[in-house]
Amino acid sequence: MSNDANPFESLQEQIGDAAAHLDLDDGVVERLRNPERILETNLTVELDDGSLETVRAYRSQFNGDRGPYKGGIRYHPNVTRDEVKALSGWMVYKCAVVDIPYGGGKGGISIDPAQYSEDELERITRAFATELRPIIGEDRDVPAPDVNTGQREMNWIKDTYETLENTTAPGVITGKAIDSGGSEGRVEATGRSTMLAARDLFDWIGKGIEGATVAVQGYGNAGWITADLLEDLGASVVAVSDSSGGVHDPRGLDAVAVKEHKDETGSVVGYGDADEITNEELLTLDVDLLVPAALENAIDAELAEQVQADVIVEAANGPLTPGADDVLADRDVWVVPDILANAGGVTVSYFEWVQNRQRFHWSEEKVNEELERVMTDAFDGLINAYEEHDLPNLRTAAYVVALQRVVDAYEQAGNWP
Ligand code: GLU
Repeated sequence: MSNDANPFESLQEQIGDAAAHLDLDDGVVERLRNPERILETNLTVELDDGSLETVRAYRSQFNGDRGPYKGGIRYHPNVTRDEVKALSGWMVYKCAVVDIPYGGGKGGISIDPAQYSEDELERITRAFATELRPIIGEDRDVPAPDVNTGQREMNWIKDTYETLENTTAPGVITGKAIDSGGSEGRVEATGRSTMLAARDLFDWIGKGIEGATVAVQGYGNAGWITADLLEDLGASVVAVSDSSGGVHDPRGLDAVAVKEHKDETGSVVGYGDADEITNEELLTLDVDLLVPAALENAIDAELAEQVQADVIVEAANGPLTPGADDVLADRDVWVVPDILANAGGVTVSYFEWVQNRQRFHWSEEKVNEELERVMTDAFDGLINAYEEHDLPNLRTAAYVVALQRVVDAYEQAGNWP
């Protein structure tokens, strides 16, 4: 939190670290360090009082060598051109590490959605969808939810696109409500993959997840579902937080009850008779597993020195700075990187898109079964790369696997025109 590392520089460093372990053409690596194109646009919308407001919006299409650009759209005051560039790059390597046929993209609007009414948000979203229309499409670029967006926004974008194009194209966006062409299991998917990544890592290090103590930073969709599913595996969630602060009970919280408290009051703070703690205290608790599930740069090198968890599994995108990664590797803390751990979201987005293209609806059981297969295959591939190349940490292993796949796709196509 204290760290303001530029996420785009972090991404470039992560790519560079992996490239150093592979025999790649420098020119190709340079191509894969920068986005192919970025839409930066100003949306002028009418507020409920009749006044006009102009907000800044972006869509970065980082790389399309493996398939359509894919990635979410976030609404947050921290959204900048560099943040969107980084997040779009992380999507390229995320889709490649779990081997789904997509490139990477990301979009965002620099607003605090809590400051707008639902009608205003609808106008903002439809204005953005109108700007996006020429550059998105089922086979071109497929957005999805991200921080502060969900089914409601996806339904508006789909409807705007289909209306303007005079067609039906549910696969133009994923993360829709079920009746608008969404998939079973999509809402839970990011938390589910984070849980699976934690389970597989604990098995691999020979500890087992049952009985492990867990702290979760961020109690939005990814954080709370991860907590709930880890409890189902017999882990004990002892601390959770959100942007207002955190709660801690060494005897274990109840993930669902905390979520209900947050829905009622707006925050996890004040839940039951748990102790109140700050986000920083949560991140340095002596637990077996720490799950950062909020925003970028939650842990920098300085804070990493104080981390007491044995394992970190990243549900958020980019929660550790490269400096934190180095410190944690030196201190033998295992880190399962975001591009693998939270890839369940985009993987079930892929299943949603497949179902949309087939005009066929899968059961929740099938979705979860296929997701588990994708995640365990990806985890095994990561461990193989880690051991085979004798890599410094699991993040570099993930980038080694992913970068090689993107380079292969690019080189098989050749450089044209
Ligand atoms: N926003 C999610 C992510 O960062 C999901 C993206 C998607 O489903 O396309 O992975």
